[in-house]
Amino acid sequence: MCGIKLTQTFKLMKPNKRKRELLDATIERFKECVNAWISEIEQLGEYPTRKNVHSFAYKKIREQFKDLHSNVVQEAMNRAIEVYRAWLKTKGQKPVFTADVVSFKNVDVKIDRHFINVPLINKERVWLPMHVPKKLRKFLKMKHGRVQISKVDDEYYAQISFEVPEPKPYEPKGWLGVDIGINHIVVISDDKGKINKFYDNAIAWKKSVEYRRARLQFLKDKRTKKGAWRILKRLSHKEKNKMAYINHKIAKEIVELAKHYHYGIAIENLKGIRHHYNAKRHRKRLHKWAYGDLIDKIVYKAKLNGVPVVFVDPRNTSRTCSKCGYLVEKGVKGRWFRCPKCGFQLDRDLNAARNIAKRAFRLAPWGASSSQRRW
Ligand SMILES: [Zn+2]
Repeated sequence: MCGIKLTQTFKLMKPNKRKRELLDATIERFKECVNAWISEIEQLGEYPTRKNVHSFAYKKIREQFKDLHSNVVQEAMNRAIEVYRAWLKTKGQKPVFTADVVSFKNVDVKIDRHFINVPLINKERVWLPMHVPKKLRKFLKMKHGRVQISKVDDEYYAQISFEVPEPKPYEPKGWLGVDIGINHIVVISDDKGKINKFYDNAIAWKKSVEYRRARLQFLKDKRTKKGAWRILKRLSHKEKNKMAYINHKIAKEIVELAKHYHYGIAIENLKGIRHHYNAKRHRKRLHKWAYGDLIDKIVYKAKLNGVPVVFVDPRNTSRTCSKCGYLVEKGVKGRWFRCPKCGFQLDRDLNAARNIAKRAFRLAPWGASSSQRRW
């Protein structure tokens, strides 16, 4: 049985002066090491992989950073590759690693009750006591993976990844369809119409952000105001955080609801949507919200809770009557779906969500439909 990786953050109890100095020196050295790797990658002149970067520069960097544990030097390499790859996508300013962190491989970290032991600079090993809230106690008994120690505002934190056993998904009594709406962020409905819910708590906020951004963009274009540019950058950072938080809340609620009713979750399979004839509709709604992130969060939380998830074909979900199955010829306009055949009327996004739930039923019997599952 494979597990799910879960990262938890523990605050370290205030370390004494000596330990603080060791931590700070290690964090500083790690930063230097990552940046040394980055400049090696620049010289490599190929797309960086663990293999080519390692064989290109490991000896040299290891020699330079003898004071760090050999696995920490490799962790720095992995980090440098991440930073460089991210830079390749944006091609912005020259990549520089500035984070106050250091990461360790699982084998180098010991955890004993609420103490964590890591190899710091000059082969110094120290035991660091952590604050362990009640709800995180159970994790310390699990197998741990990678550990990262970070410093934020003079406080130290340990981010520890754990491997949590994955529960077997239950046999669902029904399906909850999740529709990425046009008029709402997300709409959910089950095939029986017991649950009907709209999530658009954040639309007003998103609109105001977009308005402010457009204004700042205008200023930037007009006078290349440095100040406006800075605000613009900060805005998108804040916006990303808020979106991620809202997604977390929506995903949590959907998974809890499904679990409560013993339902599975059906989501539209949006992969390859570009080739569909109704691609325009999807493009229009997809750019509005970080849906990929939301879907990932739903799948992840469902997995942790043993809630089955299926991906269904999204074609015509908005044009089909969820009551009689009649396919409306022309695209549905406005907020309401009206069936010309049976006269059924429903909010169009809700109708689509209900169709998605119904499609999950049509898939092969649960358990045999592994090809429809993303995990
Ligand atoms: Zn109908």
